[in-house]
Amino acid sequence: MSTSNGSLLTHLKCVACGKQYSAEEWHTICQDENCKAILSAQYDFSANTLTKEELLRRPATMWRYREFLPVRNSENIVTLGEGFTPMIPLNRIGTIAGNIIGYRRVFYKDESLNPTCSFKARGLSAAISKAKELGVRETVIPTAGNAGGALAAYSAKAGIKAHIYMPEQTPNAFKTEVRLFGAELQEVNGSISDCGKWANAEAAKHGWFDVSTLKEPYRLEGKKTMGYEIAEQFGWNVPDVILYPTGGGTGLIGIWKALDELEQLGWIGKKRPRMVAVQSESCNGIHLAFQNGQASSTFKDNGSTVANGLRVPKPYADKIILNVLRESHGNSVSVGDSEILTALREIALWEGSLWSPEGAALWHAFKILSQSEWIADSETVLLLNTGSGYKYLDNL
Ligand SMILES: *Cc1c(COP(=O)(O)O)cnc(C)c1O
Ligand SMILES: [Zn+2]
Repeated sequence: MSTSNGSLLTHLKCVACGKQYSAEEWHTICQDENCKAILSAQYDFSANTLTKEELLRRPATMWRYREFLPVRNSENIVTLGEGFTPMIPLNRIGTIAGNIIGYRRVFYKDESLNPTCSFKARGLSAAISKAKELGVRETVIPTAGNAGGALAAYSAKAGIKAHIYMPEQTPNAFKTEVRLFGAELQEVNGSISDCGKWANAEAAKHGWFDVSTLKEPYRLEGKKTMGYEIAEQFGWNVPDVILYPTGGGTGLIGIWKALDELEQLGWIGKKRPRMVAVQSESCNGIHLAFQNGQASSTFKDNGSTVANGLRVPKPYADKIILNVLRESHGNSVSVGDSEILTALREIALWEGSLWSPEGAALWHAFKILSQSEWIADSETVLLLNTGSGYKYLDNL
């Protein structure tokens, strides 16, 4: 028995050449050999009947926005309760080292409260649900840690086999969790780029579905729900500035897509936040390209960083990330490991929350941007703490 979920999904569209693809079969990236850009899910927002008032009666998970998510039959939704994470004010830390926060209103969205303790749960809940709907039996992913854990968990819940390629130096918690979820783990001597090469080759050999960041269209749909939630939680408004720890950039691109969709729905106006990409000094290709006014990034890998999720030497969607930064009048900041660790300890000590190193990098970036007055004293700022520090205890 199929139960319609009310999804307004119409088709997939290549973000570069505009070619359209059916959303009723598996697709990864644009098939045009000279293009190979990412595919973006399109919806018929003009057919929407959901109201903001009705939304308030729905469960507090990301599936409350199901009309704007890709799953057609509600029986295919694979959920562990992801999304609708809290927005918490940073109100005690402002008093240290002079008055860092000033009159700014600074919040963090605590994505560590998602299943498997990171925002990767959103993307993989959407991707595995859609994979289930399309009859996928086996998946493969290259991961710095959190995506592998989330893929393994949702695959276990869906009864799908997952194959995971993870760098050897990843902290143990990430390896143990995927084994417990019954996935097949391959440890790779190298970075996520090396894992990606393996995953790609094995996917082709065995016919596994490759759910690499942005080479699969629906992880983006899951991550965009952060944008829907931010608007809803700010009373259908947006903050002045959003800081985002950028690896592959899915969350940054997803939030931008969500705000555009919300404007099409007439739920928000034209105002957009200034988007800030925060990177680790070990992999800061986006930062360098943005600061130098380039349209794309170059491969940059200076080795391991305490912020595993930021070790992405060349994001597949670099051009789109750079576009969002420019269009939003945003900025970029690159942060070293010792500053990341100091920031993590300050947040823990003053705010009672153990952030992931990726999230902690944002606190350092915030200090730099507020001290330089790039963030004005009157502005509202949101930091996305994308994951939990508990999985990184080996690194701390
Ligand atoms: C994956 C990850 C990131 C980077 O996310 P992208 O969507 O790849 O930019 C940031 N923080 C944490 C904790 C992560 O796991
Ligand atoms: Zn194309």
